[in-house]
Amino acid sequence: MTEQIRILIASKGKPEALAQGFRQEFPQAEILTDPAALDGTPVPYVVAGKPDPGTIAAVPGLELVLSLNAGIEHLLAPGEVPEGVPIVRLVDPAMTEGMSDWCLAVVLSWHRNLPLYRADTEWTRRTEVLSRDRVVTVLGAGALGSRVARLLAAIGFDTRVWSRTGRAVEGARAFAGPEGLVEATTGADAVVNLLPLTDATRDVLDAALFARMNRGGLVASAGRGQHLVDADLIAALDSGQIGAAALDVFRTEPLPPEDPLWTHPGILVTPHVAAPTQPGSAVRIMAENIRRHMNGDPITEIADPARGY
Ligand code: NDP
Repeated sequence: MTEQIRILIASKGKPEALAQGFRQEFPQAEILTDPAALDGTPVPYVVAGKPDPGTIAAVPGLELVLSLNAGIEHLLAPGEVPEGVPIVRLVDPAMTEGMSDWCLAVVLSWHRNLPLYRADTEWTRRTEVLSRDRVVTVLGAGALGSRVARLLAAIGFDTRVWSRTGRAVEGARAFAGPEGLVEATTGADAVVNLLPLTDATRDVLDAALFARMNRGGLVASAGRGQHLVDADLIAALDSGQIGAAALDVFRTEPLPPEDPLWTHPGILVTPHVAAPTQPGSAVRIMAENIRRHMNGDPITEIADPARGY
């Protein structure tokens, strides 16, 4: 390797820790953490969190953007990554493990009435249902959704999974496309959202979907806040159509203190922690993708701007 590698870490959260990781992977490389210090020398690689708007577009000689996140809708926004520069999504088994833990925790907790027992001060024995008698629908069958659906099915839930193309998941019934969404959510007891945010998925968790579910079910969302019509969820909880919700993502983050989602008794709020990026494994995966790019080898997980994910 003769050419010097330059990598800009465009992330507001702890860029130094990431820089240290990249220095270990590429001891000869120049690792930059301050976009303001760019001097016109080409920087082929940008490791991107959620930098200030226009930061990435201003990088000279950009060849590849490596996202620190699985969701890349902010990088596909106009004026961010120049057309033709590939964006590599972060697909990390450690992140998938974290997301599976969060989803199983909220589904099992709701399934066995734990929040209700936690609030009880009397010996109230509630009806306990077997997992095989609950229909759980996972929206999204990608890196995250497919593992979550597989694990839910392995526990015994009657599992459905919905994706754009009807991707198969072991143990689950697969549904595709807009008509598939109606079938997949009709009679569902729980819906777990792990979709990417695109024009086609925005506002997917709305009154019509809640009305198709069995009464008193669970809505869990760790995709993006814009998937949920907040007012529709609150109305469905207030009417009893939905029994409980667990939300990890919000239209505005941090969720403002005055937001009614904070105080609604049926809603569990977690602060976008379902599957945080694990810096150690993320750096190793991104470094491997940089090596593949330098060697001209194919890179999987390149986002498709036309699809939006
Ligand atoms: P993938 O790209 O691997 O999977 C996306 C899935 O969604 C695919 O199955 C895809 O279908 C499906 N999909 C996309 N568009 C549609 C549509 N219009 N209709 C039906 N299905 C659709 O993404 P990941 O699993 O890696 O991540 C999913 C999302 O999770 C991220 O985009 C991000 O928003 C969120 N996330 C949240 C985190 C958190 O901490 N809360 C952490 C990480 C991610 P197909 O298989 O047919 O292509």
